[in-house]
Amino acid sequence: MRKGILFVLTAPSGAGKTTLLDKGLKSVPLLEYSVSVTTRSPRKGEENGKAYWFTTRAEFEALLSKGEFLEHAVVYDNYYGTRRSVIEESLSRGKDMILDIDARGAVQVMEKKYPAVFVYIMPPSMKELERRLRGRATDSEEIIQKRLSLAREEMTYADRYDYVVVNDDLQTAFEEIRAIILAERLKVERNRERIEKIRESR
Ligand code: ADP
Ligand code: 5GP
Repeated sequence: MRKGILFVLTAPSGAGKTTLLDKGLKSVPLLEYSVSVTTRSPRKGEENGKAYWFTTRAEFEALLSKGEFLEHAVVYDNYYGTRRSVIEESLSRGKDMILDIDARGAVQVMEKKYPAVFVYIMPPSMKELERRLRGRATDSEEIIQKRLSLAREEMTYADRYDYVVVNDDLQTAFEEIRAIILAERLKVERNRERIEKIRESR
């Protein structure tokens, strides 16, 4: 059985990553969504263990000092992190994993030379990003302004990724991400055993 593939997805807040994930990326066969740990408070309707594991600062810092995070970052004054043990367990079972993390977290994964496929999701424009942030109506004006200025900075990291998907039309963006996942699974280097088996068969 081949080891699972780690897909790292990043987008500035409001670009539509949650919408894309909820649209069905979470139900691509053999693809598991990595649930991050965060110290931010749950938004309306967010259940513990679904989008995030919500925790306290003290608990987060305890895990951090134990080296339990593959990567972590402070985003808008809250901690977010990916538990290494959870990822490794799934990958070793041959499950592909999708990580929804910010660029600074993704850079930590790159710098650790952890094998992964990096996908950057961009909004079609800054104007549309602002419209989406307002339309979502979950954040205060102050937070929206903060997210907009951070989005510009965040998008400078896109150059370091393997793929870029512009979330203009939702269906198109969804199909593009699915195509990346499917193509990565078909790479020769990930299918050596399968190739060999076919060659050896009669
Ligand atoms: P993120 O998870 O990246 O912060 P969301 O998924 O919450 O962003 O999307 C932000 C807002 O933009 C939501 O109101 C969502 O319905 C809307 N949205 C997402 N994708 C699109 C799209 N392709 N076209 C129009 N609106 C979109
Ligand atoms: P939100 O609070 O809007 O759900 O997420 C804010 C930002 O934190 C998003 O850019 C999201 O990708 C990022 N994020 C969520 N989980 C993690 C994580 O485990 N690690 C890192 N580095 N960023 C994360």
